[in-house]
Amino acid sequence: MRAIAVERGDSQPRLIEKPRPEPGPGEALVRTLRVGIDGTDFEVIDGNHGGFPADSDHQVLGHEAVGVVEASNDTDLEEGQLVVPTVRRPPNTANEFFRRGEPDMAPPDQCLERGIDGAHGYMADYFTSPEAFLVPVPAAFEATGILIEPMSNTEKALEHASASRSAFDWQRDAALVLGNGPLGLLTLARLQSEFDRTYCLGRRDRPDPTIDLIERLGATYVDSRETPVTDVPTAYEPMDLVYEATGYAKHAFDTIDALEQNGVGVLLGLPGDDAFDVEGGRLHRSLVQGNKALVGSVNSHVTHFETACETLSALPDWFGDALVTDVFEPAAVDDAFSRSPDRIKTVIEFGSR
Ligand code: NDP
Ligand code: ZN
Repeated sequence: MRAIAVERGDSQPRLIEKPRPEPGPGEALVRTLRVGIDGTDFEVIDGNHGGFPADSDHQVLGHEAVGVVEASNDTDLEEGQLVVPTVRRPPNTANEFFRRGEPDMAPPDQCLERGIDGAHGYMADYFTSPEAFLVPVPAAFEATGILIEPMSNTEKALEHASASRSAFDWQRDAALVLGNGPLGLLTLARLQSEFDRTYCLGRRDRPDPTIDLIERLGATYVDSRETPVTDVPTAYEPMDLVYEATGYAKHAFDTIDALEQNGVGVLLGLPGDDAFDVEGGRLHRSLVQGNKALVGSVNSHVTHFETACETLSALPDWFGDALVTDVFEPAAVDDAFSRSPDRIKTVIEFGSR
């Protein structure tokens, strides 16, 4: 079968041939329809995130997939059912996080991540998975099912942010998303129904498809070159929620300044080891006197995938088409992994139903 993989010592993903996987006990065989590409894939290719599966000279990429059950094997899944796989898997034996059904809460050394860290991903004609990690989704998600995994990360992050504000009457007037990449834009769409006013921060000139999308959603575009995050409260308004999806490390601290009294900042980005000075005393005081919270969040699990399906179903019809700007066949791997400002979300299509 075809697969898109990075080989050890190489810095480019390539189309390779490898044997179709055999499902083990409790696993189904899934025929892949589509796989999304995101910022994490580029970090994996560059060797800045995750790592190769042990004993493998290559890593199959891809963690945002949708497929159809080809062989249910001994699972309760129906053949022909559309499914979306979760990302995390137990290392050798299941640990307490997997036993509790909370693999998203496991530390990095107690889980593998398919397509990212220590396990092959889904960019191949077929993959196998235990039933517990395959989320059945409605047939309408054939094209947009690749958005369920990234939206599930947002569902988890917002669940944790809301939980941190659950002890009092948290006002949801204004929200700011930092970052106009796919994750930021998905989140911005999700926040429209919950907040009266929404903003999204980027660093692009017009015309730009992400700015068009931000404005079409009814949100305000904030250019970080003119209005740094710390100036947002005076230039616009203080925020009840800030969602960081830039991976720019200073934004974690700038978020504290952008928050309204009693607001919460949720951090998703995965920066490198950047070092810089912060006004620690002033920010500490602001957190305390402002009853503010900062929450970090990574990954997601089955319930978040299910909520993500509901969220995506409620978004405007045009949104999925506007976000997924490019669809490539596996053979066009070089094109698919080149970056360009007129692209938002790129997808590789392995097949259709
Ligand atoms: P992208 O890299 O596609 O998007 C990041 C966006 O942030 C880009 O549009 C970039 O702008 C913008 N940006 C970066 N720095 C600045 C800045 N200083 N001012 C304004 N805009 C800025 O990534 P994704 O959308 O896929 O993901 C966002 C982040 O979240 C990444 O760090 C990713 O690793 C992480 N992530 C975390 C997950 C989790 O579970 N915690 C899950 C998925 C992703 P431009 O394009 O113009 O450079
Ligand atoms: Zn992702």
